[in-house]
Amino acid sequence: MKTINSKKFFKEAKNIIPGGVNSPVRACLAVGGEPRFIDKALGSKIYDVDGNEYIDYVGSWGPAILGHSDPDVISAIQETLKKGISFGAPTFLENKLASLIVDSIPSIDMIRMVNSGTEATMSAIRLARGYTKRDKIVKFDGCYHGHSDMLLTNAGSGLATFKIEKAPGVPDLVAENTFSIPYNDIDTFDKIMGKYGKEIACVIVEPVAGNMGFVKPKAGFLENIRNRTKECNALLIFDEVMTGFRVAFGGAQSVFNIIPDITCFGKIIGGGMPVGAYGGRKDIMEHIAPVGKIYQAGTLSGNPLAMSSGIATLEKLKKDKNSYKKLETTTKKLTEGLKNVAQKNGIEVNVDSLGSMFGMFFNSSTIESFEDAKKSDLNLFAKYYKAMLEKGVYLAPSQFEAGFVSLSHTDEDITKTIDAADKSFQEIKL
Ligand code: PLP
Repeated sequence: MKTINSKKFFKEAKNIIPGGVNSPVRACLAVGGEPRFIDKALGSKIYDVDGNEYIDYVGSWGPAILGHSDPDVISAIQETLKKGISFGAPTFLENKLASLIVDSIPSIDMIRMVNSGTEATMSAIRLARGYTKRDKIVKFDGCYHGHSDMLLTNAGSGLATFKIEKAPGVPDLVAENTFSIPYNDIDTFDKIMGKYGKEIACVIVEPVAGNMGFVKPKAGFLENIRNRTKECNALLIFDEVMTGFRVAFGGAQSVFNIIPDITCFGKIIGGGMPVGAYGGRKDIMEHIAPVGKIYQAGTLSGNPLAMSSGIATLEKLKKDKNSYKKLETTTKKLTEGLKNVAQKNGIEVNVDSLGSMFGMFFNSSTIESFEDAKKSDLNLFAKYYKAMLEKGVYLAPSQFEAGFVSLSHTDEDITKTIDAADKSFQEIKL
């Protein structure tokens, strides 16, 4: 595969951008490779600057649920663009996206738009702290909620990829207010809540984890968090930046039937443009300025181009009643196929999915926590990643990331991917 242009751009980038990238995992260091520089993307495919085509399971790290460059999303952005780029004043587009979300998620009466998932979780925690007048928070090891100081302890995603357990630059005083405990560990959670419950402002959780690889909540885990937080008058924040409108139109909360106090969004609700949001009950949300005194603001928040892209994406997902069934069927075909070819080649894997979110660990034992996820054979993953890339399949360059299927992935894409995996497994087992 020709990579001369990617190599040239990456060499240039490393002199002017730290690590040559604007988000660490993109550098492909964990798999011992170099990034492909992308030129364009269409449907299920992504194309690099050397003209190579890949079947894409990164989907811009989640937003591209319709596939890339969806014509309805592009034309919505184009129509809005004709009227201007940014006004820093309210637009009806903000009402429209807010309504779409409020109408789809029963736990949300009101929602505030921000520009990223990081901003959404950071602001949600400030709101929880201001509302409860408490400082301590609980998160779970291997969950990633963006890069704000208080959420970097034992975080997943890039911090897991680069083995950063205690993030430099975070004052001890900030980190001391964060308890990070094992995912799916009901006993430890109960102990923490038993001891500190009345000091805890909120518990934040990825209801389905996608940043330690793909890990589902075990039965009772989320229900117990909901019950305990209620008992202690602490707020429950569901970080649905990844799972929102992904595992179901109503997010993970609709799948597990849990009503959180605050929900954070990002990714899909921006349709590929930079958007985040946090929403919840009116009596909580009205503590945010200018109604209340809990301050949060943004120059570009509610940007019209981003709103249009999000509206077009959600409307399209909503219009076709079969969207989520189709996504699930395609994803199941993929995961079943991967399981079969792994077994055929004697490679021990753990493949799982929910809706169109999936993951594969190179370890066949049960994976319920970050500690379990870290037992995956990372060398084998790196070899697999490289072999798949060479065969035109674009996966996230880290074991600690979930994969995403879009509505544009065809049966042919899935067959080609499984065939590529079969060949890759044959190569890596040698
Ligand atoms: N929360 C979750 C669950 C995420 O997966 C991410 C990003 O991957 C974030 C928060 C942070 O979002 P952003 O990268 O838009 O700041």
